[in-house]
Amino acid sequence: MAAKILVVEDEAAILELVIFNLQQAGYDTIRAENAEKAMIVINDSLPDLILLDWMLPGMSGIELARKLRRNERTRLIPIIMLTARVQEGDKVAGLEIGADDYITKPFSPRELIARINAVLRRIAPEASDEVIEIKGLRLDPSNHRVTANKHEIDLGPTEYRLLHFMMTHTDRVYSRGQLLDRVWGDHVFIEERTVDVHIRRLRKALQLTGMDDWIQTVRSAGYRFSVAPDLSTSDSNEGI
Ligand code: CA
Repeated sequence: MAAKILVVEDEAAILELVIFNLQQAGYDTIRAENAEKAMIVINDSLPDLILLDWMLPGMSGIELARKLRRNERTRLIPIIMLTARVQEGDKVAGLEIGADDYITKPFSPRELIARINAVLRRIAPEASDEVIEIKGLRLDPSNHRVTANKHEIDLGPTEYRLLHFMMTHTDRVYSRGQLLDRVWGDHVFIEERTVDVHIRRLRKALQLTGMDDWIQTVRSAGYRFSVAPDLSTSDSNEGI
């Protein structure tokens, strides 16, 4: 799934140029000419990253960034500020409100794409197209293929996304609610039990390889992907 990038920019020529280059690089794009429109877009669905112009008519880019950081639902969206300003003080202000990176106009399309890729890799590795390989388990986002010791593993789309997320966030426990947010997307109102169903399917698909043990149940907390043996419980394959 290509990462979805929201571009908030009031100068039409720059907006078109950025959108064109992002699409060429394989990203899904959404556009907003001002902060107010951006809020509407974000309210509808969360982008994977926001390219945010500093100087906007009405609410400024900085104000919008601050607002997003204060909101529980939007506080983790990666933000790259676009600006014509070059003063060091402004750069500090941008990073202080929680922008993840900062690009000064004029910028080359190549620099823009490189910065976006770097931020996505760091913050939302599951939105990057990079192949992930962990001890013989290989996931290739460019063709959605998963192989275990070179044998193809057949996964449904949800199990694929779940595995992608888990392989890019290893050794940390995620609650079912967090997995729903990160894998199914926010604004989805489905039962947490659904997570268990897909975890079960994923384990089943990996069972013959023995890699199903890497998807561990952490009692009353959630799930964790780890290649380290799970010593905490003897019944790690059961529900929470
Ligand atoms: Ca502007």
